Amino acid sequence: MEMENKYQIPVIPPKRERDANGRVLFTKQMKEEFTVLAPMMLPVHFGLFKPLFQHHGYNMVLLDSTGPEIAQTGLKYVHNDTCYPALLVIGQLIHALQSGKYDVTKTALVITQTGGGCRASNYIHLLRKALKKAGLEFVPVISLNLSGMEKNPGFGLTLPLIRQLLAGMIYGDALMLLRNQTAPYEVNRGDSEALLQKWSEKLVALMAKGKGCGQRDMRRLLPQMVADFAAIPVNRVPKVKVGVVGEIYVKYAALGNNDLEAFLASQDCEVNVPGVADFMLFKVDNRLEDIRLYGGSKAKYAVVNILFQYIGKMQQILIDAISTQPCYVAPKPYSHLKELVKGVVGYGSKMGEGWLLTAEMLDLAENGYENIVCTQPFGCLPNHINGKGMVRRITEIFENANIVPIDYDPGATRVNQENRIKLMLSIGRERLAQTPMTLPGFAQDADFAAYDAQQQAEVL
Ligand code: SF4
Repeated sequence: MEMENKYQIPVIPPKRERDANGRVLFTKQMKEEFTVLAPMMLPVHFGLFKPLFQHHGYNMVLLDSTGPEIAQTGLKYVHNDTCYPALLVIGQLIHALQSGKYDVTKTALVITQTGGGCRASNYIHLLRKALKKAGLEFVPVISLNLSGMEKNPGFGLTLPLIRQLLAGMIYGDALMLLRNQTAPYEVNRGDSEALLQKWSEKLVALMAKGKGCGQRDMRRLLPQMVADFAAIPVNRVPKVKVGVVGEIYVKYAALGNNDLEAFLASQDCEVNVPGVADFMLFKVDNRLEDIRLYGGSKAKYAVVNILFQYIGKMQQILIDAISTQPCYVAPKPYSHLKELVKGVVGYGSKMGEGWLLTAEMLDLAENGYENIVCTQPFGCLPNHINGKGMVRRITEIFENANIVPIDYDPGATRVNQENRIKLMLSIGRERLAQTPMTLPGFAQDADFAAYDAQQQAEVL
């Protein structure tokens, strides 16, 4: 096939099957032959999801490319007032197609659609527009959603796959929490990461055989996982505990937040990044709220409610498992977060992360993670309202809350972001030196004396 340029784009675009609106379809034959590129967001969770998709016949590749060229590619093909996560996700996908690494005539893209009113539902249209501009309009784009929004003959979220993905989400939340609460204290550097890898491989092997996804399996496996992490040799000296909240992409993706978790680890902090289960419950609950408030099909309500209850039960299994080891701070159920935010911000504020973002900050402050980085993408109105806009109200409730909103956009410098975080951490360190810890897993006065001696030795 004759190629147009260094990007290996064919001069004559391949013929594609399309729907009535001209959308390129991902066909059954493509499922057999095509590589499906997915943008990376959550390394632990997506590491579990990828083999699940592969097991169901999709040749999926997770893009872990980084560097300023991703944002630059995004800026080239997406309008610069588009929210930063859209810019990065689209930039990463187009950058991969133009890398020459993939046969663009045999490559498809996959992107999530939340189904809400936010731009996260409309990335897909921005992506198609960008593909057209890049001469890649023939590349099929698959929408990954639970709302039945766009259908493709070669792609389907079957019940077994949904069940496995939901189980993967809970296991991913558990692994992320256990690694984050163990690694800062481990005696042998790398123990937690190695155990995380070991458990990920074990879970993938189980789920590929259709095992490990039921609630009974989770009740058995999760406490084993928690016990394994609790057995890692640790030295639990007091450290500054930092929560990370914000828009889902910049909160989790290293590409979006300039490797925030690694930076906080380098500052000797313990990091708490709330799990995905709450976000999922929030999104499903919003569907129920919509029907309650504005009416709708009773049958749809019943089906959505089954999903809501199902995820809620799985979250409770996770909480019960983490609670078996007192050295860990278990997450609270979604119902608690919803209760926390009552009287602070209305449940109608549900675009993007909506009221959940405020609730997560309240929950972190309540659980001893009073130092909070609130990641704010450029162009994200919902997060500026429920994140930055709520800081004052939260400090009225928890006066120790030490929150720093950080803006992420193509023009923001990493050094500026890190300096602002360091300022917040210096307040956290001062308070840590003054306040005895009472949270599980922390030793008391003796450890503080040792910590003070160590700090003094470093100063001298
Ligand atoms: S929540 Fe904000 S950043 Fe995320 S898609 Fe919506 S507007 Fe964009």
